[in-house]
Amino acid sequence: MILCAEYCITGDGKTVLKGQAALLDEEGKIRELGPREEILSRFPEEPVKDMGEATMLPGLCDMHVHLGYWFSQPDGFNYNEYLKAAFAIQHAQAAFERGITSVRDMTSERKLCATLKLAEEKGFLVLPRITHVDNGICMTGGHGHGEVAEVDGPWEIRKEIRRQIRDGAEWVKVLTTHRTHTPEFTQEELNTAVEECHRRGVKCGVHAGTQPGIQMSIDAGFDTIEHGTFMTVEQARQMAENGQAWTPTILAYTYLYEVCKKALEESAGKPAGDPTMQTELKNYEYFEPAYKAYRDHFKELYDTGVTVLAGTDMVVCGSPLLPLDQELGYMVKYGLTPVQAIQTATENPAKVLGVEQQRGLLKEGLDADILVVGGDLSQDITRLQDVRLVLLGGKTVYEDGVRYVGTSRMVM
Ligand SMILES: [Zn+2]
Repeated sequence: MILCAEYCITGDGKTVLKGQAALLDEEGKIRELGPREEILSRFPEEPVKDMGEATMLPGLCDMHVHLGYWFSQPDGFNYNEYLKAAFAIQHAQAAFERGITSVRDMTSERKLCATLKLAEEKGFLVLPRITHVDNGICMTGGHGHGEVAEVDGPWEIRKEIRRQIRDGAEWVKVLTTHRTHTPEFTQEELNTAVEECHRRGVKCGVHAGTQPGIQMSIDAGFDTIEHGTFMTVEQARQMAENGQAWTPTILAYTYLYEVCKKALEESAGKPAGDPTMQTELKNYEYFEPAYKAYRDHFKELYDTGVTVLAGTDMVVCGSPLLPLDQELGYMVKYGLTPVQAIQTATENPAKVLGVEQQRGLLKEGLDADILVVGGDLSQDITRLQDVRLVLLGGKTVYEDGVRYVGTSRMVM
């Protein structure tokens, strides 16, 4: 099958080509990428799908998701194992209409993502490519307690990591800050977590948004810093030097800021001691400076050369599922070009996940995970809202408003 589109963004952060065609093979790989006329004349027998005035690019990767995050649902009592699985499946499949073909799950319930992948391997489900942690790890009473594993001290941390790897964890996630400037894990505990992961050949990310938790996490050697909300330029430089990547999750914090701002406006007139008012005020006190930190510093942090990863991290009940187009939209709003923003969801994730030989670019020999959007995306990031076609390993999973997740329908 030959796929053509007027514009082509290869995903490397700079290359935009015109009038290209991609020849896809039976194995779901990109066999050739080249000038349209040349490809058409060399392979005259091949069926052609011409997308016209549109942009083709690699399928996107959302590097911070929680597919099984049911905790914020108001009817949590209904969420037995079956409903949790159904919830996670619809969440994962929502990826396709966003042009997302890969996700990194940064905490769902124990064994949930590993089981989803098993179901996919058995052919029960069509899902995006999932890389996942098992369950987050925090200290007793730390951020996320009740939803993630609570452990203290180096040996408990090692044991939890060993258990998770035994149960199929492909990454490990540690949480060490929560809206205050008191770090949760000690330096010794953070160092141990990284050491145990790396000893086993597993990468690890850390939820760290405030100081000195961010610095402690950089020093410990985590592969990715999640949020890094109040990161300094000097810290971003250190990360660039150490080869550590940053998942800012700009949208999540901006969204939460807007939610509590609205709630505060709506509760105007309530007595100051009203408990909902108190909670919203406390939220506002954190999320307002958080959103401003991204708005005012994202570009200078990016300019240090630190590897930036696009992640959505939307867990609030009623928030949109995997709105990666909005995360990239904020990056552009704060100073990146659309082509640079796209790289944070294509080449950069593939490198950090260690799958750059399989995907992340539109390139010969790589998997045909391809997104086509209407118009010229290199000039207008909002074109991401106009998803026309999504291929996963050469198979159509979404086209013109319809998801193809029940069968493994081949293109053409
Ligand atoms: Zn998260």
